[in-house]
Amino acid sequence: MSDEPSLSLLRLVIPDGGTHKGTSTCQHEGCGKTTREGKPFCSAHVEDSPYVRSILAILCERDEEEAILNKKNGGIQTQGFFFRETLLLLRSKDYTAKALSRRLDINHHAAERLIVLLAKCRLAKRGTTSRGDTTISGLGLRDLVEE
Ligand SMILES: [Zn+2]
Repeated sequence: MSDEPSLSLLRLVIPDGGTHKGTSTCQHEGCGKTTREGKPFCSAHVEDSPYVRSILAILCERDEEEAILNKKNGGIQTQGFFFRETLLLLRSKDYTAKALSRRLDINHHAAERLIVLLAKCRLAKRGTTSRGDTTISGLGLRDLVEE
């Protein structure tokens, strides 16, 4: 049948029913609800899962960091999300401050401060376009992304 390729694709993303057969009990204290496909937590307590917790913790940290970063003269953590994310972005492309602020969803001043800090740490090069926009580039030669 023609639907065979999509079926095999589905099997890649959906856990094999054979290995998770039967039901399980939610491990949340005092819940005891039956879960499907052998999951350790019911849908109401999925936040108890270590994996979900670690993702939520990352998102929380990112939110806090973003709030500080977007403040006038707010600090930038060199171990934080935005510093690392910018370094990762620079591996493939160079950015103007405007493009970087859009890419990271932070305000323009925050992007400018991030660029200054990365350049100060000698992890990237700060420059300007012919129109006077601040640019940041990795230590290799890349195409510049404007806006
Ligand atoms: Zn539960």
